[in-house]
Amino acid sequence: MKAAVISGVGQVEVTTVDDPAPGRRQVVVDVSACGLCGTDLHILQGEFAPTLPVIPGHEFAGVVAEIGADVTEVAVGDRVAVDPSLYCFECRYCRSGRNNLCERWGGIGVSTAGGAAEFAVAPVANCVKLPDHVRTEDAALIEPLSCAVRGYDVLRSQLATSVLIYGSGTMGLMMLELGKLTGAASIEVVDLNKERLATARQLGCTAVATSADELDRGGWDVVIDATGNARAIQDGLGRVAKGGTFLQFGVADYAARVEIDPYRIYNQEITITGSMAVLHSYERAADLFAGGVLDPEIFISDRLPLDDYAAALEQFKAGKGRKIQVLP
Ligand SMILES: [Zn+2]
Ligand SMILES: [Zn+2]
Repeated sequence: MKAAVISGVGQVEVTTVDDPAPGRRQVVVDVSACGLCGTDLHILQGEFAPTLPVIPGHEFAGVVAEIGADVTEVAVGDRVAVDPSLYCFECRYCRSGRNNLCERWGGIGVSTAGGAAEFAVAPVANCVKLPDHVRTEDAALIEPLSCAVRGYDVLRSQLATSVLIYGSGTMGLMMLELGKLTGAASIEVVDLNKERLATARQLGCTAVATSADELDRGGWDVVIDATGNARAIQDGLGRVAKGGTFLQFGVADYAARVEIDPYRIYNQEITITGSMAVLHSYERAADLFAGGVLDPEIFISDRLPLDDYAAALEQFKAGKGRKIQVLP
C-alpha cells in the first residue's frame, strides 16, 4: 500500500510499504481521510513519537476492509472513526482511570502505523461506527474534537464564565464551539493571523483581537492556550482572573519555557493545568459531531491527495488554512 512515512528528523516521504493485517481483535480500515495537526510536526522534529520511522496520522476515519478472527462488533464495509489512543490497561494510571497518562501510552500514528496511508490497523474497541448522515471523510474531525472535549472535562466549566482562547486554528475554534455549549458568558479569541480570526468571528465569538490588550477586560475566568507557542502562553498566564484557570491545551516544544508568578498563583488562587489527548471523550465527541456541533465545511479547509503529504505538512506549518486532510 501507499503510505506517508516520517523516516527521520525532518524526513517525510510517500512510499510503498507492506499491507497491514489485523490481529484477532483488530480491524483494517481503508482510510477515507486523515487530518494533520501540530503533533505530526512534533513527530517530524523528533518529538512525541517514541521511535522513527513511523507512518503518521492519528486523526482518521474510513471503511472497515478486514476484521480479525475474534471481531464481532463491526463488519467489513462499516464506516468508522478511530480513537488512536493505545493504553496498556495494567499500569497504575490505567487502573485509576487516567489512561491518557498510561506509563506505556501509545497512539496509532504516534507509536504504531497511522492513518496517513491507504490502510491502517486499529483495535476494534477504538472504532466508533458512523451514523448515515455523517460523511466518512468529515469524521476525521472527531479525534481533535475528542481532545477538545477532554480539555473541557479538565476545566469542569461552570455556566457564565469569561473565556479567552489563544489561537484560532482548528483547535482554538473547536474550543470556541465547545465553549458556547458550556454556556460561557463571553468567549474571546486572540490570534496574530487576522484571516484566522475572521473564522472565529464567523463562528460567533464575543470578540477577536491580535493582542489581548485590545480586549477591554481585567482578566478571564478561563484562559486556554491552543497554540503551544511560548509567547502566547506567557501572555495568557498573566490574563487569568482571580480564582481562574489556565489550560495548557496546545502542544509546546519540549524546550519551551515560560515564567510563572508564584505569589499571584497563591494570592489569587489561580489554577494552571493541562489536558493531554483523549480520555473517555471519544464516544462523546462522536455524538457531538453527529449532532452537528462543528460545520465540516468551515473546519476542513483543504482536502489533498496522500501524495501531497509533505506539502500538506509544510502548509500546516506555515499556518495556512484550518484542518488540512489527506485523502488516501
Ligand atoms: Zn491531532
Ligand atoms: Zn497503562
